[in-house]
Amino acid sequence: MAAGVVVAVLLVLMAAIVALYVIRGRTANWPPPNWIFAACDVGQGDALVLAAGPAEAVVIDTGPDPAKADHCLTVLGIHKVPLLVLTHFHADHVDGVPGVLKGRTVTEIETTNDPDPPRGVSEVTAWARTAGIPTTVATVGEHRRFGPVSWDVLWPDPNVSPSTPPEPARKSHRRGRRQARASPRGGGEEGSGPNNSSVVLQVTVSTRDGPVRLLLTGDIEPPSQAAILAAHPDLAADVLKVPHHGSAHQDPDLFAAVHPRVAVISVGKGNTYGHPAPRTIQLVSGTGARVFRTDDDGQVVVFGTAARLRVATRRG
Ligand SMILES: [Zn+2]
Repeated sequence: MAAGVVVAVLLVLMAAIVALYVIRGRTANWPPPNWIFAACDVGQGDALVLAAGPAEAVVIDTGPDPAKADHCLTVLGIHKVPLLVLTHFHADHVDGVPGVLKGRTVTEIETTNDPDPPRGVSEVTAWARTAGIPTTVATVGEHRRFGPVSWDVLWPDPNVSPSTPPEPARKSHRRGRRQARASPRGGGEEGSGPNNSSVVLQVTVSTRDGPVRLLLTGDIEPPSQAAILAAHPDLAADVLKVPHHGSAHQDPDLFAAVHPRVAVISVGKGNTYGHPAPRTIQLVSGTGARVFRTDDDGQVVVFGTAARLRVATRRG
C-alpha cells in the first residue's frame, strides 16, 4: 500500500466502560470495512461522506477545491452519489462541486433555502444545469433514506429566525451576534447569515448491532444552535461534526446535549480564522468525546458498528 497511509483506531467497547485504543501504522485496506462516515481532508472547508451502498454515498458539502473533493471520493471508491447536500453557499462548502461531479453519477443536489452569497448560488445553479442534475431545497422535518442511512432535516426552519432564538435566551447567544466581517467568498467570519442558514442533518445509520447516530451541523453559530436545541432536545449522537470548523463561537449547551463519542473538526492548516479554537476543542473534549481534526489527522473515517465504533485516519 502507498506510503503515507496512517491509521489510528479507536475502539469504543462498552457504553458504560469506554476503553480507548489508538494504534498507528499502515493498512492495505482503504476505506476500512463497514465504514459509515468520512470527513475528507479538503483544507479549510467541509466535505462529508455517508456510505449508502457499494460505491455509493450521500455527500454533504464539497470543500473549496474540486481536486481534493474528487481525490477523497476516489480513495473511498465512490462512483454514485444519489444526493449531494450543500449546507450553504459559501465557497468553502460549494466550490468543490465540480470535483464531486467528475466521472460520477450524481442524481440530485439539495441546498439550503438561503440564496446567499449570490455568487455561490449562481455557480451551483450553473454546474447543476450543465450536468442535468435537478436541485431541491432542504425542508425542515424532511425525512429521507438511502440504504442504511436515514436522516431528518433539523434546520434551517423558515419559521424561526436564528437572530431571535426562542426564549429563554442562552448565555452564548450574545457572542453570536457579532457583525459579519467582509469575506463574501470564504465564509470564515462570525455572525454570518449564510452560516446560520446551514442545513443540519440528524443522521441514523443502521449497523449489525444497532444504530449509529450522527449530527452534521454545517457552519451554524450559537443563534441557530440554540434554536435547534430548543426545538429538538434529543440531539444525542455518537458522532458530531463540530460546527463551523471549530470556531470559538459555540453554544456549550449544544455539545452537552449531543454528548458525542467522536467529534470531527474539518479545518485547514494555517487558516486565517483561527479555526479550530482551543476553547472549542476543550469544550467538546470535556463532553468525553475523542476529537479528530482533518488538518492534523487527514481524512477521518468512522467505521464498525454501534457497539464497536472505530475511527481510522489517513493522510494523502
Ligand atoms: Zn465553512
